[in-house]
Amino acid sequence: KVRNGNEPEFLQAVEEVAETVIPYIVEHDIYYGKNILLRMVEPERVITFRVCWIDDSGEIQVNRGYRIQMNSAIGPYKGGLRFHPTVNMSILKFLAFEQVFKNSLTTLPMGGGKGGSDFDPKGKSDGEIMRFCHAFMSELFRHIGPNTDVPAGDIGVGAREVGFLFGMYKKLNNEFTGVLTGKGLSWGGSLIRPEATGYGTVYFAEKMLETRGQNLKGKKVVVSGSGNVAQYAVEKCIQLGAKVLTMSDSSGYIHDADGIDATKLALIMELKNVKRARISEYLESYPNAKFVKGKTPWDVACDIAMPCATQNELNDDDAKMLLKNGCICVSEGANMPSTIHAVHTFQKARILYAPGKASNAGGVATSGLEMTQNSLRFNWTREEVDKKLKEIMSNIHDSCIKYGKSEDGYIDYVKGANIAGFVKVADAMLAQGVV
Ligand code: NDP
Repeated sequence: KVRNGNEPEFLQAVEEVAETVIPYIVEHDIYYGKNILLRMVEPERVITFRVCWIDDSGEIQVNRGYRIQMNSAIGPYKGGLRFHPTVNMSILKFLAFEQVFKNSLTTLPMGGGKGGSDFDPKGKSDGEIMRFCHAFMSELFRHIGPNTDVPAGDIGVGAREVGFLFGMYKKLNNEFTGVLTGKGLSWGGSLIRPEATGYGTVYFAEKMLETRGQNLKGKKVVVSGSGNVAQYAVEKCIQLGAKVLTMSDSSGYIHDADGIDATKLALIMELKNVKRARISEYLESYPNAKFVKGKTPWDVACDIAMPCATQNELNDDDAKMLLKNGCICVSEGANMPSTIHAVHTFQKARILYAPGKASNAGGVATSGLEMTQNSLRFNWTREEVDKKLKEIMSNIHDSCIKYGKSEDGYIDYVKGANIAGFVKVADAMLAQGVV
């Protein structure tokens, strides 16, 4: 706390892990007295850099770029890039720290990292986005590589941005290599990668429901966000027979009591991915739906909640409202969307609650599969990748049970995910000595 006192999101992420991992360390001699958690909370390397680019009016703009190389004990640093005006050291360190545990849980050989910029892509032309991405990569390229650090997308960084970033990396290094994931299909991308985080979040919810003899069919689902993760979470919910009632963006949420079906979802994808419009425009096509300005959707009655927008978007009051309205399952698509008090409220009520580091790990897992395909210079089919994704989500669920199931049968997914993620990284760090 002394060293990172001005980094509230980072402290929050560390506290949530420490609550479950410290008691485990105390009980296990191989980890006790080695300052292992203290070592894990200190990034191996933090890079910040100036990004200068020229906007459409000819003015020079300056942003700050970052890459946090958190932990490489089990593989090259791996984690997304976020472009959003709120990006700062605290947010990226929390994301990088979470990423270490998440990547470990996938069982694939990936360390943890995260990066990005305070650049705001909203309202920028394609040309401005390209010039910014090229400027950003003109510094980042010297710190990354297919065996060193492999970035991907996150908020504000989708297929378009990954393309521009990859183009500049390739030009500067004069090599075509799997240095970024989330690439286009014709230039090294993997089938199912765009869908993977959202699909994985739903597969994880299915596994949780299974433990109570239930499934998604006929369940009412409330989703926040309308970006990459939310879109494909909704798509999979619809495919599995659930009724999705809401989606949102930073301006508010839409509530469609008739349910968002595949046709309506296609409209949202068009609005958000092509027109880059506000979600409220949904009402121009579906006037029976409601738009609630400036609010999150947690007061809409549901069986299942899937927060898929951003950190701390679901607080303790929201958690209590969800419980009051009968919610039995929360599967997080976003990273740390629930505040620590909200998490405690879900746990006290003993509902099915999965933290993002377990339930949204399908994205990075499929990025891992993209890296494998790049190394093999070979592509798996859609069915093969989807099957592997399902297996990985099921294995993560098993790990959560292994370390998180208590004597009365309740599965504490937070404890399970934290300890399972910790053990693999800690073992590797101990084996490699004090470095
Ligand atoms: P996108 O940029 O595609 O979408 C983000 C969505 O969240 C948009 O609807 C956006 O609204 C909304 N949003 C962003 N910031 C805020 C805010 N401060 N308040 C309210 N709404 C907000 O990002 P992704 O879908 O890729 O990421 C969503 C979450 O999932 C993040 O937490 C990310 O870290 C996490 N995640 C993503 C993975 C991936 O593979 N992409 C993998 C694992 C986790 P608007 O359009 O108005 O900005």
